[in-house]
Amino acid sequence: MSKPIILTGDRPTGPLHLGHYVGSLANRLRLQNDYHQFLIIADTQALTDNYDQPDRIRENILQVALDYLAVGLDPNQNTFFVQSLIPELYEMTVHFLNLVTVARLSRNPTVKEEIRQKNLEESLPAGFLIYPVSQAADILAFNADLVPVGEDQNPMIEQTNEIARAFNRIYKTPCLKEVKPLIGTVGRLVGIDGRSKMSKSAGNAILLGDSFADIKAKVQKMYTDPNHLKVSDPGTVEGHVVFSFLDVFDPNQLEVQELKDHYRRGGLGDGILKQRLTGLLEDFIAPIRQRRLEFEKDPGEVLNICRKGSEVARNRAQSTLQNIRKAMALITPS
Ligand code: ATP
Ligand code: MG
Repeated sequence: MSKPIILTGDRPTGPLHLGHYVGSLANRLRLQNDYHQFLIIADTQALTDNYDQPDRIRENILQVALDYLAVGLDPNQNTFFVQSLIPELYEMTVHFLNLVTVARLSRNPTVKEEIRQKNLEESLPAGFLIYPVSQAADILAFNADLVPVGEDQNPMIEQTNEIARAFNRIYKTPCLKEVKPLIGTVGRLVGIDGRSKMSKSAGNAILLGDSFADIKAKVQKMYTDPNHLKVSDPGTVEGHVVFSFLDVFDPNQLEVQELKDHYRRGGLGDGILKQRLTGLLEDFIAPIRQRRLEFEKDPGEVLNICRKGSEVARNRAQSTLQNIRKAMALITPS
């Protein structure tokens, strides 16, 4: 493989949403000609907080792969693969776990935030606490150069690089390569509730496969200025979710600026803004939805793409694991 390598992916906890698009899919689309991209559908990681719903996670592998195809990621240029089909990653995780302290894992700000959001304080699975280490294995197994991700993944990349440095130092072999994150133009798209980032698990997402009716209903529900009761009232733009989305999805930013000024002065209703955004999101999503419907006709073929890709990915992980075992001078098989 002569091209530089990208490793990136998603948890199959549900179909993908607009946050994925602006956070990482857009970068992947832009880079698919110049990099070899390994796209991990991280089912093992998804199980760390959904271990009681393995069927749901398995079923969503197809949903994520459909979204990849629907946005235009080409399976001939990218390797789609499923994490649990690469057992080498588990062995790497175990070796890397020795290089990380429990205190360090407990300080990870993204994990801390997720523990709070998912109410895991009282019943934190050990697997969830250590998922950044397994994610480090995913990245390092492929000798990746670049990882296109949303902002919430920055701490994971730091952790990965700490592990790479520790490994190389302790086992005196420069066998693992540090990686760089590539954050999307919008590192963190807010959810329709305006409270936290758009996420599959929080029920605040606009999906890439949503129908026009879904889009309309979700835009209708978006958090606006609670004090803007009458159209004539002056309004606040900060924290107004419709404006946050217009900032990202409206090609006419000059007009968005005028709308903001008007809203602040008073005399502009939320209805007009919501109508504008609904139209823009429909234009954005409609071609993706259309392609998704085409690919949905042959789910077997889509899963085949993932299975074939997993063989390619496994080969590469096997060769990294061999280097790791060699560096650690572990016993060789007979
Ligand atoms: P879950 O709720 O199950 O954690 P998620 O919606 O957070 O799902 P992930 O599969 O965890 O999605 O994230 C996949 C990739 O998409 C990561 O690189 C992540 O940073 C990025 N991403 C997810 N949500 C957003 C968002 N709202 N804005 C920008 N990037 C995002
Ligand atoms: Mg997430």
